[in-house]
Amino acid sequence: MKKIQMVDLVSQYEKIKPAVLPLMEDIMSKAQFINGPEVFAFKNELEDYLGVKHVIPCANGTDALQISLMSLGLKPGDEVITPSFTYIATTEVIALLGLKPIFVEVDPKTFCIDPEVLSAALTPRTRAIVPVHLYGQSANMESIMSFARANNLFVVEDNAQAIGAEYLFSSGEQQKTGTIGDIGCTSFFPSKNLGCFGDGGAICTNSDELAAKIKMIANHGQSKRYHHDVVGCNSRLDNMQAGILRIKLRKLDEYIAARRKAASFYDNAFKGNSCLEVPFRSSNSTHAFHQYTLKLKGVSRDGLNQHLAEKGIPSMIYYPIPAHKQKMFSHFDLACELPVTDALTHQVISLPMHTELEEDQLNFIIDEVNTYINLN
Ligand SMILES: *Cc1c(COP(=O)(O)O)cnc(C)c1O
Repeated sequence: MKKIQMVDLVSQYEKIKPAVLPLMEDIMSKAQFINGPEVFAFKNELEDYLGVKHVIPCANGTDALQISLMSLGLKPGDEVITPSFTYIATTEVIALLGLKPIFVEVDPKTFCIDPEVLSAALTPRTRAIVPVHLYGQSANMESIMSFARANNLFVVEDNAQAIGAEYLFSSGEQQKTGTIGDIGCTSFFPSKNLGCFGDGGAICTNSDELAAKIKMIANHGQSKRYHHDVVGCNSRLDNMQAGILRIKLRKLDEYIAARRKAASFYDNAFKGNSCLEVPFRSSNSTHAFHQYTLKLKGVSRDGLNQHLAEKGIPSMIYYPIPAHKQKMFSHFDLACELPVTDALTHQVISLPMHTELEEDQLNFIIDEVNTYINLN
C-alpha cells in the first residue's frame, strides 16, 4: 500500500507531468514570467468554467479577499458579518482594513454561516457578509443573498475551499459557488481543489464596475500607466502558475469526482456509526470535498488522532481555535457567544482527502478509525 498522506500532490503531479514539463520549458525559454499569455488564457478559461463575467487573477486567496473588500468603498469601523469557524485569512483581512468583523454562528450540519442568525447581527453599520463555503460545502446562498439584498449589504464569498461546487436555487437555477455574491474569492494554494505549484488566487464578479475597481486595486491603483487613482497593492498570478492551472482546470471536474468517490466510500463505511457524524450532503448544493470532516460524538479526538498517527495515517483539525477566540482580535469588544462554533472546534477531525486515494488506503483508514472507536 502506498504511504497515506492528507494530500498526495506527488502522485497527482506524476499524471500531469508530460503536459507540465514542456510548458515550463517553453515559458522559461521565452522568459515570460509576469503578465504572460497563460495568465490571460487561464482567466478566460476560468470565466467559462465558472460561468462568470470577470475573473481577476491575483497572488493568493488572502489577497483576493483583501482586494475584494477594498473595492467596496467601505469606511473604517464598518461591520462585516463572517463566521468564526473558518481559516484565519477570511477574518484577518477584515480587521486589517480597519473594518470590524462580526462573528456569527455556523449551522451545525453544513459548518457554514447559519442564515437564521444574520438579523440579530445586523446593525446600522453593517455593510457586507463574507460567507465561507467550508470544506467544499456551499453556504445557504439563497437565504444569505435574500437577506443581503433586503438590507443593502454586499456579499463576498470565500470560495477558497469549494471551487467547482454548484448551488441549486429553489427556482431551479444552478450556479457555481463563488459566482453568486457580488464577489467571489478563491485560492490556488497547492493543496486546494484547484492548486498551483506555489501561491495563487482569483477574484470573480459579474459586475463590470467592481471588476474594473478590483483590477485597478490589484495593480497599484493604476488606471493607466503611471496614473494611480487609488491606493492599491501588487497582487499578480504569475505565468508559470497560470500555465499549471490551465492544465489542472481541464481536470478539475475529474478531480472533484475522485474526491466525491472517496467521500462516498468513507460515508458508506461510517454511516450508522453512532459515535460519528459523516459530512452533511445538502440537497441545495454539490459538495466539492476539499476536506472530509467527521464530527465525533463521545469519542476522544486526541485519542483517535494519536491512534491513527501510530498507524501511519495523518488526520487534521480544521480549525482548533475559532477566530473570535484568537488573540489578534482581542482588542475588539467581541461579546459574542458561539456555542455551536465552540463545540465544533472540539468535535471535528478531517481524514485524508485527495484525488489519488486508493481503495486499499481507504479501507485501512476506515478499519483503523473503527478499531479505535470499538476499543474506546
Ligand atoms: C486557503 C484559504 C484562504 C487563503 O488562501 P491563501 O491562498 O492561502 O492566501 C482563505 N480562506 C479559506 C477558507 C481558505 O481555506
